[in-house]
Amino acid sequence: MMRKQIAAANWKMNLTLSQAEELLRDILAENIIPGEYQEVLFAVPFPYLMVASKAVSAKSNYAIAAQNCSHKISGAYTGEVSVEMLSSIGIRYCLVGHSERREYFKETNEELAQKIDLLLIQQITPLFCCGESLDIREAGNQNKYVETQLQQSLFHLSSEQITKLVIAYEPVWAIGTGKTATTQQAQEMHVFVRSVLAGKYGEETAGKISILYGGSVKSGNAKELFSSPDVDGGLVGGASLMAQEFIQIVKAMK
Ligand code: PGA
Repeated sequence: MMRKQIAAANWKMNLTLSQAEELLRDILAENIIPGEYQEVLFAVPFPYLMVASKAVSAKSNYAIAAQNCSHKISGAYTGEVSVEMLSSIGIRYCLVGHSERREYFKETNEELAQKIDLLLIQQITPLFCCGESLDIREAGNQNKYVETQLQQSLFHLSSEQITKLVIAYEPVWAIGTGKTATTQQAQEMHVFVRSVLAGKYGEETAGKISILYGGSVKSGNAKELFSSPDVDGGLVGGASLMAQEFIQIVKAMK
């Protein structure tokens, strides 16, 4: 089975509405037609979800993702956005556990497990982010650390559920720093993540799960990164804010 290849933009907390519309317009004007097993995603701020969804609605294999969701179902949680709300406006993807959410908003592996459960109930694909910080990598503990993230947030899922997820490996030291993991470092960690999944769910199931790389992906390194057999695309921050950069990254998919 062919695994899905995904080029995902993560706009983070950037762009006004008119800037966002212009960026999307410029990228869509390139008329890239994704292959059957390719997907182009834009993770946009909450206020733009509906306009952005409308902008891509006529295009196949383009979709809009939320950058976050609440781990609570509904109720008195001022400022939060529920999974049901996302579903009600037609959103089909949501980032979960981006390292910035873990670091600045203290999201825990357990809360992320709750978010994933809620998303799967609404048939929204979670893009689950994992990855180690620099001190952990320098101490040589990255495998153990990422394994714990996977265990604590995902291992309660059934094998049918786990295949509904996309995973993004994003070494924190490579995010927004201009310092990309080498293709070898990315491939090694992707193989490791897949082996952890295989240990729990079996090789066949693990082989179906797309694992994206994130951390300073740009037009100049995307092709080489994506050429690794276990790198199934990228989650792109900074470079996704520039139309030409992101266009080249989309075109670099296998
Ligand atoms: P970056 O961000 O491409 O700017 O490093 C990636 C991400 O945080 O998803």
